[in-house]
Amino acid sequence: MNSTAPFSRHNSIIRRTLAPAMSPGPGGKSACIFCEIAARRVPAHVVYEDDATIAFLDLFPYTRGHLLVVPKHHGARLSDLPPADQHALIRTLAELSRRTERLTPDYNIGLNTGAKAGQVVFHVHFHIIPRYSEESPFDVIDRVRLTDPEARSLLDVLSAA
Ligand code: AMP
Ligand code: ZN
Repeated sequence: MNSTAPFSRHNSIIRRTLAPAMSPGPGGKSACIFCEIAARRVPAHVVYEDDATIAFLDLFPYTRGHLLVVPKHHGARLSDLPPADQHALIRTLAELSRRTERLTPDYNIGLNTGAKAGQVVFHVHFHIIPRYSEESPFDVIDRVRLTDPEARSLLDVLSAA
């Protein structure tokens, strides 16, 4: 049976690999991997940054160019963010959507909210997932870790304003 939640499935390898980084942890903020990336204490393939938001390549992309669009303000869900940060996030989402169209006109935008919806990192983030084939975007697929050469070639396309 196909998953009805397009962005909810993570295979066990991804869960095992990212589990330590994804744990909300007892310390809350300090254990949050996306806060660490936003503060530039943890490396990521960043394609865009402004005062309120950051966007980077997903480490286990569903497809080539899979991006995460993230507010710098920590909150588990969109409704946890102050309105100014919500608005900034949507502006950045639109900007990165425009850039994604350099790869393909077809893409999904997703936001998993809550564990039952497949949220694994409890710092709100939009996924932009480019689509290249006619296969159902909702099929569950195995994902492989992003390689550095692939990341560099994507940064060339997606970092330019
Ligand atoms: P979600 O299920 O919506 O919480 O998705 C979390 C996403 O974050 C997954 O697609 C992961 O592959 C991705 N991810 C987790 N840690 C990192 C990281 N350090 N750098 C880039 N992507 C990450
Ligand atoms: Zn955070």
